[in-house]
Amino acid sequence: MRNIGNVLLNLIYPLRCPLCQRPLYAPGESYLCQLCSSKIKRLTLSTCWGCAKPFFEKESLCFECKGKKFYYDKVVVAAIYDDIIRRSIHLLKYARKTALAKPLGALLIEAISRPDCIDRIDLAIPVPLHNRQLRRRGFNQAEILARSCGQRLAIPVSTGNLIKTKSTLSQSDLKRDERFKNIEGAFLVKKPSDIKGKNILLIDDVLTTGATLNECARTLKRAGAEKIIAMAIARGL
Ligand SMILES: [Zn+2]
Ligand SMILES: [Zn+2]
Repeated sequence: MRNIGNVLLNLIYPLRCPLCQRPLYAPGESYLCQLCSSKIKRLTLSTCWGCAKPFFEKESLCFECKGKKFYYDKVVVAAIYDDIIRRSIHLLKYARKTALAKPLGALLIEAISRPDCIDRIDLAIPVPLHNRQLRRRGFNQAEILARSCGQRLAIPVSTGNLIKTKSTLSQSDLKRDERFKNIEGAFLVKKPSDIKGKNILLIDDVLTTGATLNECARTLKRAGAEKIIAMAIARGL
């Protein structure tokens, strides 16, 4: 009966889909309307295992990644970076529509649940922001996504252990190779004993070259992490 008030309230002031503003009435429509969620295109093609670009040769590096060392054991991108995903991530990141972390987190879980992905995951870790960045934005969108995944997988989420100690230039202003240089040495593990021997799900919202996830993975491996799956909602262009 507790919900009757909510139901009435929802009839008068319905919750709306943050993407198209249609009222959310149908069962299961708690965050995104069915129409918008059905438009999300899952990325199911085989991809470069460095930068996650769709690439026909399985388990191999694309031409741009050849010669680079990647520290994660697998990279998984859940969806194609089209208008729906771009707007969802933008709303999550800049308009604080944090409820969107639920459907986006579900999308991540769906992607890592595909066969051959991983046997055991012990810990989810979001790509951290530098303190200054965190203060400016007020929250870390990767952390909200990691919490949504952690809850669904019933695994702990570690924040504050992998930290970003170097304030770097925005990766989006840099060319591909500059991005790898820019982020080098930017992260630190404060307590390696909590990382040692763990299989880790490393989470970010968008991946472009893989440079940031790769540097986090390098730092975590150096701290003793066993396996790392790097994942993002989508691959930026
Ligand atoms: Zn919608
Ligand atoms: Zn690549």
